[in-house]
Amino acid sequence: MVEDIAIVGGGPAGAYLGYRLAQNGIYATIYDDSHPREKPCGGGITPFTLERFPLLKGVPSSYRFVHRMLFISPEGKEAMVSGQSLMNVSREHLDGYLRHTAVDSGAKLIKERVSGIEESADGWLIRTQKGEYRSRLVIGADGVHSVVRRATVGRIPRENLAACIGYFARGVERDYSVMRFLKDCKGYAWIFPRETHSSIGVGTDTRHARNLTGYLNEFIEDYCPNIEKISPFGAMMPAARDPKFYETPCSGKNWVLIGDAAGHVDPILGEGIRYAIWGAELAAEAILDGEPAKFDALWREAYCPDFVEACRLFEFVYNPDMLELGIMMIARSETLARIVTDLVASEQTYRGLRDQVIASLPRIMSEQEHSR
Ligand SMILES: Cc1cc2nc3c(=O)[nH]c(=O)nc-3n(C[C@H](O)[C@H](O)[C@H](O)COP(=O)(O)OP(=O)(O)OC[C@H]3O[C@@H](n4cnc5c(N)ncnc54)[C@H](O)[C@@H]3O)c2cc1C
Repeated sequence: MVEDIAIVGGGPAGAYLGYRLAQNGIYATIYDDSHPREKPCGGGITPFTLERFPLLKGVPSSYRFVHRMLFISPEGKEAMVSGQSLMNVSREHLDGYLRHTAVDSGAKLIKERVSGIEESADGWLIRTQKGEYRSRLVIGADGVHSVVRRATVGRIPRENLAACIGYFARGVERDYSVMRFLKDCKGYAWIFPRETHSSIGVGTDTRHARNLTGYLNEFIEDYCPNIEKISPFGAMMPAARDPKFYETPCSGKNWVLIGDAAGHVDPILGEGIRYAIWGAELAAEAILDGEPAKFDALWREAYCPDFVEACRLFEFVYNPDMLELGIMMIARSETLARIVTDLVASEQTYRGLRDQVIASLPRIMSEQEHSR
C-alpha cells in the first residue's frame, strides 16, 4: 500500500508536523523507534517560541523557568542578565508530549528506524529494519544525520557542524543558566538547570573538537564540581559557518527537510527547537496547499535572512577581544544587557542587532561612564 505522507523522525519537527497535518485532516505516518529517550540538548525554549507556538506550554512536567543567565568571557569576566524567562525542559518529556499529541490527533506512529529511502515510480520506497513501506511524499525530520537528507541533497558538510559533549546531572544549585565562552576556540560551555536533571555541556565547531573533554572537565571543576553525573552525552548539531550553506534547497516536489535535517539551527547560539517547530508549521502550510516544494520559499522568507546575518556576525561575536570587551560592557550597561537578553530570548533579531546597538550607543556609553 502506498501511504500519502511519511515523516521520518518523531522529534519536535516531525511530531509537530504530524500534529498540524492531523488537525487539518491529513494523517501522516511518523517513523521513529527511539522513544522514550533523553536527547542531548540544553532544552532551553525561548519566550518567543512559547508565545508563537502555545502548544509547547502544555508540556506536563519536568520544566523549569529560569529568569537569569550568567555570561562568562574566556578570561573569566562575568555579566549576569535578566528580564526574560527561558523554559528549560527535559527532552524526554517535551518530545514525548509532542509525539503523544500528534498520535492523539490521528497521526500514525511506526516504531521502526529507517535505514534508507529510494525514489520510485510512485514516490519513495522506505526501508526499515523490519520491512519496506511506500509513500508519495517523504519528510526528513530525522535530525542532523538525516537519511532523507542524504538521499535528496546530501549530508550536512562537516565544516557546518558543531560537536557537543556533556552530562545530564543532578545537584546543580544555581537557579540561573550559565554560558561560558571558551578560550582558544569558538564555542561555549553551558549549565542549563532543569527540574529533574540539568544539562551541562560544551560545544564547538568540528575543527576544534579534539579538546572537548578537557574543556568540559575544566568547566565542571570550576563551576559545578559537586554535581552528581547521571549519564554522559555526545552529539553533533548543524552550525553553519558559510552563508552559502543555506543555498541548498530544503524541498522538492515530493520531499521536504525540516529541523536539524534541514540544518535549521541558530549558528551563533545553537537554538534549534524554535526552528524545528517553525519549519514544521511552514511545511504543513506548503503540504496543505498541495505544493510541498513551496516550503523552500516559505522558510527563506521567514527565518533564513536571520541565519545568514548570524553567519556573518559569527567571527565578530566570537572574536576573543570582542568577547572580553562585550561582556565587560554588558556588566556595566543595563541597556546593553537588555539587548543581549532579548537576543537570547529571540525577541531581538540578528538583522536588527547592529541598528539597535547603534541607536542605543549614547545610553550604553553613558552607563559605562557612570558605572566606573
Ligand atoms: C548538546 C545540544 C544542546 C542543544 N541545546 C538546545 C537548547 O537549549 N535549545 C534549543 O532550542 N536547541 C538546542 N539544541 C538544538 C536542538 O536539540 C535541535 O535543533 C532540535 O532537537 C531539532 O529537532 P528535530 O526534530 O529537527 O531533530 P531531533 O530532535 O534530532 O529529532 C530527530 C528524531 O528523528 C529520529 N531519527 C533519526 N534518524 C532516524 C531514522 N533513520 N529513522 C527514524 N527515526 C530517526 C531520532 O531518534 C529523533 O527522535 C541543542 C543541540 C545539542 C546537540
